[in-house]
This record gives sequence, structure tokens and C-alpha cells, in this order.
Amino acid sequence: MMPGSGKIADEMTRDRKSVPPAGEVRKRDRELGMGRKISRRDFLNGIPVGVGALALPGASGWLLGACTPPGASGPYPPALTGLRGSHPGSFEVAHELRDRAARTGSWDDTGAADGGHFDLVVVGGGISGLSAAWFYRKAFPEARILVLDNHDDFGGHAKRNEFTHEGRTVLGYGGTQSLDSPSTFSAEVHGLLSDLGVDLDLFFTAFDRDLYRSHGLGSAVFFGSEDFGEDRLVNGMGRRPAAEFAAEAPLSEAGRADFVRLNEAPGDPWPELDEAGKKQRLATTSYEALLEALGMGAEMQALYRQRTHGLFGMGPDGVPALDLWGLGYPGFQDMGLTPGDHPSLSLTAKPNEDPDPYIFHFPDGNATIARLLARKLVPGAAAGSTQEDIVQARLDYGVLDRPDSPCRIRLNSTAVRVREGGDGAASVTYVQDGAATRVQAGHVVLACYNRVIPYLLPELPEEQREALAYPPKVPLVYSNVLIRNWTSFVALGASRIYFPGGFHASVSLDFPVSVGGYDFSSGPEDLIVLHTVRTPCLPGASARVQHAAGQHELLEMGFETFERETRNQLGRALGPGGFDPARDILGLTVNRWPHGYAFEFNSLWDPPFAPGEAPNEIGRKPFGRIHIANSDAAAYAYTQAAIDEAHRAVREILNGG
Ligand SMILES: Cc1cc2nc3c(=O)[nH]c(=O)nc-3n(C[C@H](O)[C@H](O)[C@H](O)COP(=O)(O)OP(=O)(O)OC[C@H]3O[C@@H](n4cnc5c(N)ncnc54)[C@H](O)[C@@H]3O)c2cc1C
Repeated sequence: MMPGSGKIADEMTRDRKSVPPAGEVRKRDRELGMGRKISRRDFLNGIPVGVGALALPGASGWLLGACTPPGASGPYPPALTGLRGSHPGSFEVAHELRDRAARTGSWDDTGAADGGHFDLVVVGGGISGLSAAWFYRKAFPEARILVLDNHDDFGGHAKRNEFTHEGRTVLGYGGTQSLDSPSTFSAEVHGLLSDLGVDLDLFFTAFDRDLYRSHGLGSAVFFGSEDFGEDRLVNGMGRRPAAEFAAEAPLSEAGRADFVRLNEAPGDPWPELDEAGKKQRLATTSYEALLEALGMGAEMQALYRQRTHGLFGMGPDGVPALDLWGLGYPGFQDMGLTPGDHPSLSLTAKPNEDPDPYIFHFPDGNATIARLLARKLVPGAAAGSTQEDIVQARLDYGVLDRPDSPCRIRLNSTAVRVREGGDGAASVTYVQDGAATRVQAGHVVLACYNRVIPYLLPELPEEQREALAYPPKVPLVYSNVLIRNWTSFVALGASRIYFPGGFHASVSLDFPVSVGGYDFSSGPEDLIVLHTVRTPCLPGASARVQHAAGQHELLEMGFETFERETRNQLGRALGPGGFDPARDILGLTVNRWPHGYAFEFNSLWDPPFAPGEAPNEIGRKPFGRIHIANSDAAAYAYTQAAIDEAHRAVREILNGG
């Protein structure tokens, strides 16, 4: 039994008890636009056409989003709507692998068909796997390379979402959002970006940093009636004087006083400790516990409950306070802390000053990096040659796996067995369309994720298997919602809304980026994509149990629940600004990532590991001709880590591994 599963069951029971009677649900669904039976003809590219044509009962509508845009010869994955990310069909074989391994130790691949020989086989077509293919290709230009991925699209977390409405295509990012702090990137990462033609100066003009400000928009908090007695949107937390913000918030007098004290003069809960001692204490104290130590009441705990979700996948109960000091959260002002080394193990604790603006964002996020890599690796995959023209280039999925291509990207293919032959070749067996095929490989790079590897390669030493199994991925869901216009946001003065208790922890207007002839929303009356973030977890449990519970939730939760909750949440928050979910929502793509961020060590639970002894360092050791990449190998959930680990894995090969 999974640790903590009793608690998970409790959570589910609580959920079920709070479900209103069926009649009420149906009435509310009609108001939200979910009630009308709708035929597939009503959908164009997975988007309902016509005002009010927004009913998506059960498995209809967006769930059937495998619609083919006009002129395409087959499914075009970026335009699929409904449940994406780890979409249905992508994970079942891997789960079967896990279950079979539990029964018999490994996948029996004796009957697999012969798939030929490649110089390099890469398992995992995310940014790490594609980068590994690129680094290898640079060293061996004639090499034959095969990249396998279990999804119907390449890129791993770096996924592109497209909506087409009345002939216009609007882009969004389904996972990996932006290049974060590029001035900290390694020479290898900058080298790869330069190989791809990425010039980061582009964003200083392409990203319109004034757009939302010029309309008077900023961040807001939606106080929900469940926690705060009434629904109210309040602008400017952290930007306005604390007393002014608190006066507008639906808080009690005590809650208002807490808010002001937390933000202005919280006090020092541990005056007896010196600075090093305080940092040590903060590394092993959750932010929730710090709020308690500062004497903050229940309203402050409720206000911060989901504040950390987007970055950590958990609430303040699971995040070391020291990490949040590094990120500028309130509560530390009177402790006399200065920037510098500290004992936190979490790599997300950054210095207070970020060296770069957060603007390095293509309209489809880092999917552009994956698409640039695919275009480089596979001749004819997309037209063009620049970072600008890739943005609107339509990728031809039909050429990704052509026999005459030196590099082939094979989608819908789940690796189930990897062997080190010991005779000059390794092998990888994968399952595609229910059939198993074995390919021989001069070298293998496993750029999937760590927890899969022990199932693929049970011959690994026990210590390495345990190290690879150590970290769960952090589950999260990025949904993109195409809406008719953003006048309601202007009416409310908000471009980003944080929901302390909402289904989605945040809802934001997309990043205003125009590149290569692709124009961002021209103004409040124009179409726009909303980006929402949900990170399911189990407050109160350890990080590992919280993430496992979140993964479980994502497996269970259907599209209909996402749709209903999204409509409901947007209606409640934006309704006072004139938003009508039944009229204004035009499309929805739910990118669920049960295996999302790479796990980063958390000083609340993980011990300090000596250099070379952290699970990711033990786990990434090569095994004969088999090498291990992926961001898990860095224990760092960033694109640059995925590239760095790819480079290291290929370097191992070049060094004679
Ligand atoms: C929602 C989200 C937002 C993020 N935002 C940012 C950001 O803004 N900036 C940033 O720098 N980083 C961000 N990250 C982290 C970043 O996405 C990752 O560090 C990086 O993209 C990981 O790339 P990867 O190739 O290592 O792994 P992945 O992207 O996970 O790719 C691995 C691929 O291997 C596949 N695979 C696994 N097992 C098998 C198998 N047996 N057979 C075949 N294929 C298999 C997986 O399904 C996946 O497609 C984000 C991550 C997520 C989930």
C-alpha cells in the first residue's frame, strides 16, 4: 500500500461529501455552458463554433479534440484540445511495464520484431533527448539516430498548444514556460541555443512589458467564500501598502492586523539565534510553521495556502521557509538575514536579485526550442531557418520517422526493455500500436525520467536502482483557455489572479509576445489565451507522499471535471467584470503532467547529501553503453538542466563510454 493512502482516501471522501445534488449540478452546468448536447459537426479544430455551443457532456466535445485542422493530412498534435500533456494513450504501456515488473521483474521481449540498428537510440523525445541527439550528431554527422517517445508529439514537457478560431491561430504553451535566468546558463546551453539560431536579445523587443501596465492591470487575489465568507477580488497584494490592501480584503480585523504585521513588521521568532542559526532553522521549518511561529492566525494560513503551488507543487506546509525568504516572501524582515550561502538543499532558493528579466518566452514557450531541434535533426520537418520563422511554421509530423532521414523521431513508442549486450551493442525494445520491436544501438541515452529506468534496466546495481527510484516527479496541470476578449480583466484591473483556495491556483493572461509575424492579442477586445495552473497535492504529508497523491488524482480526474471547474472558477472571479463562461470561453486544452517537474531536494525531508552521493548523482552513472540524461539527473526542473544533462551523457560517450 502506498504510504499515506489512508489520507488520500479521507480526502476523496471529503470531496464526494461536498458534491451538490445532481439537479443543482445540471442547472449550474447549463449556466456555465455545459448543458447542451452537441454534435461533432459543431466543432472546428476542437473548438466549439457558434455562441452558446459550449456543451461538452461526458466524452464529447473537446475530449474528442483529435480534430484535424483544414488542409492537414493527419492528426496535427499541437492543435488537439481536450486532455493533453500525458494524454490518453501515452502512459498505459509504461504503467503495464511497472505492473509486469512487479510480477515478473522485467518485460519479456523475446518475441519482439527486429527493428534494425542505429548508432544512437534515445529514449525520451523531450528537450534533453532531442539535445542529446543534437550533441551526438554534431560529433558524428553521419550517425543514424532514433529518438523514441511515448507521446503523439515530441518535446516532453515542452509542448505547443494551438487554437484556431475563425481562421486565426492563437498559440499557447502546454508545459515548459520560459528560459529562466539565461545569464546563469552554462556555455553548453548557450552553445546549443546559438546552434539553433536563438538570440535572446529578441525578447527585449518581442515581449511587450508595458501592455498590461498600460491598461492598469496587475496581480490580484480572489478571496473565495468557502474560506473568507464572500467572493471578492482584491488588487495589488504586495504592490500596494499592506493596510490599504487589507482594508479591501474580506478579512476580520484580526486578519487585517496579521496581514499588515506580516508585511511590515513581523517580528523575529528566534531572537536567541544568530544569522546562521536562523537560516539553519528556516531550512528545516516550513513556511506554514513560520507563519505559526510569527503568531499568524487561520486567515493568513488560508491566504497563503496555494501561493507556492506553481513553483513547488505544494503549499507552504511543504516548502522550506528559507526558500521563500530567497523568493521575497514576507515574514523575514526582522530577522536580519543577508544574502549569501545558506544550508537549504533546495535549489529553487535563489538569491533575492534575479539577474535577468522574466521575458524569455516564445509564444508556445520552450516548445520552440524542441521544434528548432526537430527542424535541425530531421530534414524537411519544417520550413524556414530562423527563430522567428519557426513560430508560425507548421511542422510536418509525417516526415519525422522517414527511413532516409539520418535522425528519426518515433512517436507513440514506449520503451519497455533496455539491455547492455556486452558485445559492442545495446538494445532497446519498445511498444508501438501494441507491437514490440527491438532495435540494436551503438549507444543508448535514457532521457526519459529516472523512475522509469529501473523497470527498463533491472540489471542496474541495486544502489543505482534505488537512487533512480528516489524522486517522484511533481504533478501539475497547465490549462490553456481561449477566450473571446479580455475586457473583464480590464474592468477588474487584473492580469494575473491568485486563488488561495481555487481549483486552479492561478489564472493569468498569456505573456504578451509577438514574434516573426505572429501577433499577440491586439487589445482588450481581441482573442487571448488564459493560462491556469493547478498542482494537486496532499497538504500535511511529506513532499513525496504529496506528489504521489497528486499523480493519483490526475490519473482519476476526467476532462469534464476540469472543464466544469474552469468554467465555474472563471465565472466567479471574472463575472463582476462582465465575463460569461458560456459566451466567452472558446476552447480549452488541459495539459496534465502527473510526471511534471523534476524533484528538487527539499530540506524539510531530505538529508544533506555529500558531494557525489545525492540520488541523482548515483542514479546517472553510465552502465556500459547506456547513459542517463533528463532533468531528473540534475535534480533541477529547468530546461537548461535538461540540456546540460544531455551534454554530459554524450560527453561520456565521446570519452569512451
Ligand atoms: C508544467 C511545466 C512547466 C515548466 N516550466 C519551465 C520553465 O518555465 N522553464 C524551465 O526552464 N523549465 C520548466 N519546466 C521544467 C522543464 O520542462 C524540464 O526541465 C525539461 O523540459 C525537461 O526535459 P526532459 O527532456 O529532461 O524531460 P521531459 O520533458 O519529461 O521529456 C522526457 C520524455 O520521455 C518520455 N518517456 C518517459 N518514459 C519513456 C519510455 N519508457 N519510452 C519512451 N518515452 C518515455 C516522457 O514521456 C517525455 O516525453 C517545466 C516543467 C513542467 C512540467
